[in-house]
Amino acid sequence: MVSGTDMHGTPITLAAEREGVEPGGLAERFHGRIKKTMEDVGISYDLYTKTSTDEHAETAQKFFNRLKEGGYVYEGEMLLAYCPEHGSFLPDRYVEGTCPRCGFESARGDQCDECGLTLDPEDLEEPRCALDGAEPVFRERNHFFFRLSAFQDDLESWVEEKKGLWRPNVYGQTATWLREGLEDRPISRDMEYGVPIPEDERVLYVWFEAVMGYVSATKMYFSERGEPKGWGDHWQDPDAETYYFIAKDNIPFHTVLWPAMLMGHGDLNLPTDVPANEYLNLEGTQFSTSRGHAIWVDDFLRKFHPDQLRYAVASVMPERRDSNFTLHDFKRLVNDELVATYGNFVHRVLTMIHREYGEIPEPGEFDEGDEQFLAAGDSPGLIETLGTRASDEIKEKRFREALDAVMVLARRGNQYLNETQPWKQEGERKATTLYVAAGIVRALSVFSEPFLPHSAREVWRQLGLEGEPERWEEAVEPLEPGTGMPEPEPPFDTVYDEDLEPWSGVEEDPDRGDGDGGVGVERISFDEFQSMDLRVGEVLEAEEVAGSDGLLRLLVDIGEEERQVVAGLRKLYGPEDLVGRQVVVLANIEAAEIFGVRSDGMLLAAGEGRLLEPDGDVSVGSRVR
Ligand SMILES: [Zn+2]
Ligand SMILES: [Zn+2]
Repeated sequence: MVSGTDMHGTPITLAAEREGVEPGGLAERFHGRIKKTMEDVGISYDLYTKTSTDEHAETAQKFFNRLKEGGYVYEGEMLLAYCPEHGSFLPDRYVEGTCPRCGFESARGDQCDECGLTLDPEDLEEPRCALDGAEPVFRERNHFFFRLSAFQDDLESWVEEKKGLWRPNVYGQTATWLREGLEDRPISRDMEYGVPIPEDERVLYVWFEAVMGYVSATKMYFSERGEPKGWGDHWQDPDAETYYFIAKDNIPFHTVLWPAMLMGHGDLNLPTDVPANEYLNLEGTQFSTSRGHAIWVDDFLRKFHPDQLRYAVASVMPERRDSNFTLHDFKRLVNDELVATYGNFVHRVLTMIHREYGEIPEPGEFDEGDEQFLAAGDSPGLIETLGTRASDEIKEKRFREALDAVMVLARRGNQYLNETQPWKQEGERKATTLYVAAGIVRALSVFSEPFLPHSAREVWRQLGLEGEPERWEEAVEPLEPGTGMPEPEPPFDTVYDEDLEPWSGVEEDPDRGDGDGGVGVERISFDEFQSMDLRVGEVLEAEEVAGSDGLLRLLVDIGEEERQVVAGLRKLYGPEDLVGRQVVVLANIEAAEIFGVRSDGMLLAAGEGRLLEPDGDVSVGSRVR
């Protein structure tokens, strides 16, 4: 797990120019802050470095030379924005103007942040210099180009293989890029700050050089360990897999440009997956440091525990679409879930055990209630089942689902205590209940460690266990009775309104956007709910919509009539899985044309598109209430 700070990003040089300081020093300052914030919040890398190291420059220069020797880099003329006011060529980001697609007035010369369109400065309407507002003139200039167009076919077939494997947003954005046709891109800039081009006075364009940081960071990690050849196990072994955790504005750089560079290099692995997140908004609108619409992590951590923040952010993580962080949700998620469910269970169990025994008690015979958690006979038990679910979800990069599995275990633990009421039990029965409960606490510590590393370790310590909650197998092994325990303390604090006072300004944004699955839920009235005509239907026919990406055309009997519905279900269901099956249809929604086929109703589904169906015998046409 390596990463680093992009030291040469244009925002840095732009900010340095505005502040009148050296970009290197400013970048160094940001790097220090970023690194410290990551440490404080518990994000641990094997190596977190920066792109201003000699090793990185050397890697990037060698990469450049190799592409050049392969014929993938050439010199050519390009039109560049030049500011007559301050007398220099302008990097793309130094040019601002109106987006030709959506009309956003503060689009940058490389991209429109509003609609995501990739731009060149000359595409902008009413362009202006970001430093002084002057209108730039466009002049011809010689630069190095990367022959991206040469990789169109190879990229298309490679990306085609990723269909269904990559997140739909990642695949979709990439496919759009490829459909629009790839053009060669400039890779040099008229600047002094950056990675110098060998035998030239210019520097490498930052987009081209920063992505190579993944390779240089891996090399640095292994040379620091005294294994200078170890990096090849990750980049050259055909069995090695590489994952890039980024945000959506970086998708094409990691699914088109970087893979093309790797193909041109010819000796390095292509990305296995790029599980990019969408945007996390704040109180309904984009974070904006310039408008002060932001929460600084270091400020926030002065008041709150990092795991409180981690829990709230992991719960609303924008895995599939933009989501929303609000102070209200932060308080609710911490108090109603983290404290009330996880913390409460752990603290109840540890307090009872500590008071009654001072150590994990010796269990007696397990009854049925105990065995729902422990492996017994053919059943692996809930601890293992939920642990496997969490681990499978992590492997599939569905982190919210994984966290949900952990919280299900905490809820089941509370239920178990409420049903068994160990405070009323006695003797061996009581010891057995608390022994099982301690096993659940240990499993929670292990399974929650990726999400809540600090408190997971704290809970582990409070159980009186040695080492750290690292091995998932350990969660299902029988717990050793008789280890002593320290005095337990509640693992999480409650959040009070007054704690949030310093950030109340961020709430004032009136433009509260839509939330994402369960957070910031917009409420409808009971009448509005009643107005939805939901009916149980039976699928009579199902077939793929020719040429579409995952659409099925269904004919559904909803009692009084038959309806044609088009739904994106192909990922989970084949047509043959659906015929004869009961589904829930929203019958009074306006008909729409989808992929040229009329769709007269919608089906209810959850998660990735799993259809809801009645639990038991219900006649076709029944209203769902
Ligand atoms: Zn200017
Ligand atoms: Zn736009």
